[in-house]
Amino acid sequence: MGRLIVQKYGGTSVGSPERILGVAQRVKGYVEKGDKVVVVVSAMSGETNRLVALGEEIWGPQFNHRELDVLYSSGEQVSIALVSLALEKVGVTAKSFLADQIPLRTNGEFGKARIVEIESKSLKEAIADGIVPVVAGFQGVTADGLITTLGRGGSDTSAVAVAAALDADECEICTDVDGVYTADPRIIKKANRLDQITFEEMLELASLGSKVLHPRSVELAGRHKVPLRVVSTFEGGQGTLISFDGDDMEGAVVSGIAHAADEAKITIEGVADIPGVASKIISPVSAANIDVDMIVQNTSADGLTDFTFTVKRPDFDEALALLGTVSEEIGARKVSGDPQISKVSVVGVGMRSHAGVASRVFEALAKEGINIQMISTSEIKISVVVDEKYTELAVRSLHEEFNL
Ligand code: ADP
Ligand code: ASP
Ligand code: MG
Repeated sequence: MGRLIVQKYGGTSVGSPERILGVAQRVKGYVEKGDKVVVVVSAMSGETNRLVALGEEIWGPQFNHRELDVLYSSGEQVSIALVSLALEKVGVTAKSFLADQIPLRTNGEFGKARIVEIESKSLKEAIADGIVPVVAGFQGVTADGLITTLGRGGSDTSAVAVAAALDADECEICTDVDGVYTADPRIIKKANRLDQITFEEMLELASLGSKVLHPRSVELAGRHKVPLRVVSTFEGGQGTLISFDGDDMEGAVVSGIAHAADEAKITIEGVADIPGVASKIISPVSAANIDVDMIVQNTSADGLTDFTFTVKRPDFDEALALLGTVSEEIGARKVSGDPQISKVSVVGVGMRSHAGVASRVFEALAKEGINIQMISTSEIKISVVVDEKYTELAVRSLHEEFNL
């Protein structure tokens, strides 16, 4: 019996009419084998960037607005129509679905909405009728009928959510690389493809900047135990399976290196080292829906301390302005910021059982003369903040240090 497979095609995969016809042929191959396929697509490559830039010209860098989501989501509407037409052209019956037509419900947080539920009836009926549903990724609809988007890269999350709702046999993320590599293959030419990676490691890598998968897609796959695989749209091969069972399968201490170059840091200097201060500093930032990442507080000298945290670069100006107000309220000496930093992380479940990984990270970076500005660790990762200009060098030296 055929399987039910959800296939998500990213921007490059649907970047031109030729590529869209290529996708249609690829889907046809599965259908001819007897598989049922649901396709989820992103906007054509460059399209969402173009829409975001247009929105910015009128509205500025703020992205939390009803109309901006109407704008951003339009790229996927174009793709579902073109992919459905291409499927029909190659002899596969297909039907496009906007989020609203499924419906795929989200909360009302424009620009970073979360999926609440998917009514699977319409998709199931189409599948039962032998139709390939072509679903618009990245978008959702609120209970009130407002269009939302899931955050950049969010089509992966749409695909996993659809796979979970349909209890699919597999969710394939079809993209422009043939799997998950030990580091971004665009930066590290010698990076190696992993046959498998544990769910835990993939979640860390994605959250720490490896954009091959949207972090929430990995989270959702874990919660609903959706078998998830990253494969190439253009070449054959098994790609990389995100596995839920194995622990430290390859016996490696470190499985991969992630980097996020779009980070910024903010420091409040000379704040009183008393209970409640950390909360006074961070609460207004969280209330403004700004994600705060690494947080470091120094030990105090003379009852005063410094408090540093990182945010995504697009949130930097807003966070800095908020902190200006907070700093006056709590009588801090000074607020300063640096929007030119990046975060480089080594990830591996093997770290749990190996001491000395941190010292190897620090030594490898020291050898290259790279200053570490902040450090954060968990059981299976070590992240450092460095000057943005050292990003590539840091990733390369760590990739070599751990023989990846
Ligand atoms: P899509 O448009 O298909 O969603 P993305 O550009 O979002 O594709 O994600 C694929 C890209 O992720 C690759 O082209 C690659 O540059 C990048 N990437 C970053 N880290 C990794 C990694 N560890 N393994 C594979 N690709 C990675
Ligand atoms: N088109 C959206 C973006 O560029 C969603 C996605 O590609 O996953 O962010
Ligand atoms: Mg993507």
